[in-house]
Amino acid sequence: MIGENKTDIFSIANRDLEVFLSQNLNQYSRLRNFDFGPDRRYNTSGLSKYISHRVFNEYHVVRATLKITSYEKAEKFIQEVFWRIYWKGWLEHRPTVWDEFIKFDKSYKKDEKYLTAIGGKTGIECFDFWVSELRETNYLHNHTRMWFASIWIFTLGLPWQAGALFFLEHLFDGDAASNTLGWRWVAGIHTKGKCYFARSENIHEFTNGKFGKDKFNESALPLLDDSIHQVRPIDYELVSKKKFDILLVMDSNLDVLNRNEIKQYRKVYIIDLGVECRQTNVSHSVYQFKQNLLKAAVQKNSHCEILESSQAEKKLRPLSGCDVYYPFIGENADFLNRLSHTIDIQMHFLWQHEDLFCWQFATKGYFNFKKNIPDIIKTLALSQNSLKGLHKNTDNPSKH
Ligand SMILES: Cc1cc2nc3c(=O)[nH]c(=O)nc-3n(C[C@H](O)[C@H](O)[C@H](O)COP(=O)(O)OP(=O)(O)OC[C@H]3O[C@@H](n4cnc5c(N)ncnc54)[C@H](O)[C@@H]3O)c2cc1C
Repeated sequence: MIGENKTDIFSIANRDLEVFLSQNLNQYSRLRNFDFGPDRRYNTSGLSKYISHRVFNEYHVVRATLKITSYEKAEKFIQEVFWRIYWKGWLEHRPTVWDEFIKFDKSYKKDEKYLTAIGGKTGIECFDFWVSELRETNYLHNHTRMWFASIWIFTLGLPWQAGALFFLEHLFDGDAASNTLGWRWVAGIHTKGKCYFARSENIHEFTNGKFGKDKFNESALPLLDDSIHQVRPIDYELVSKKKFDILLVMDSNLDVLNRNEIKQYRKVYIIDLGVECRQTNVSHSVYQFKQNLLKAAVQKNSHCEILESSQAEKKLRPLSGCDVYYPFIGENADFLNRLSHTIDIQMHFLWQHEDLFCWQFATKGYFNFKKNIPDIIKTLALSQNSLKGLHKNTDNPSKH
């Protein structure tokens, strides 16, 4: 693993994973839906800020889990980790969903209702609390994200895109796929005609009575979205081979820096997108978190260097080409796309084979994807010794 210093962010992430697995995993499925408040976060892993930057990737988390317990005992947790893979795969098949979202007209920013909501002054007790919590801790519990998005859309009547952008500005784990698709799911656009309503009793129960007196619109119609998003074919069999001497890595793929193969490169640049180079806002604390990750990543890799996005053009222009770990749809991929149009450079993308393998099952709904999880675990050998816990299915995972 990168970083031997016990206080660096990579070591902290690994310690957090270990602590969660050894102390809290066993009660995860029973307690995970409760939001006990920012000071009591033991009932979920809190790992998303690391996994979203791939300090370690989803497969590592599943492997570490199955090293200490059986699939059956950790099923719920593993399924949640696979949600992220599913969302990523789903969006990779439909890049226009992201393109459309990112181009959303920003004139809402002057809207009084919007300013009241992001100022936490709506008068809805729980919502206003969560706005402050998000700004102060850069995290919200999953159930709370669902309630928050639902209140935003159906009670406050604000555009879901504005809420998703507000999340991206403040979440340490802000992620193009999980966030955009999470909001679309709540709005009723992902599963057409099926939206998610925040209900007072549900909030009362799962905040342990802290909230639940507020009244919400629980009978609105799901949002409609007429856009057609064609499914982009992906070559799931792609084999990634080194082609050039220079490698680019973005902050969504930091796990690749642990790989031996990066030693073959003359230079590895980790691109720091900064604040200016983005289409979405990121708060000072979110940017600082990202910077700390990048600094820790280069510390132990002597031929790695942080390359600020503003310098990338100058530094890379003399090159005929470079290898790039594919950074997934989102800000990072958009930046590379803009860069490749500005300078004449060939970008040779490298893929993680686990991602490609999983994405073949992510073209339809999550239910379809979920069925394949035990087989995915077997095929990718994510479990060394706990196959007995898996639902046996000797067929190859079915392609959709
Ligand atoms: C409207 C909305 C917006 C969201 N935006 C983001 C986002 O920008 N970035 C982000 O990482 N997650 C997002 N999520 C998913 C989820 O809320 C967080 O991943 C989760 O709350 C992180 O907390 P945890 O690490 O303690 O999760 P745990 O419950 O411990 O779950 C373990 C891991 O599984 C994955 N996971 C769990 N639930 C989900 C989910 N619903 N979708 C995708 N992956 C999941 C995460 O990697 C998480 O770290 C969003 C969900 C909703 C409803």
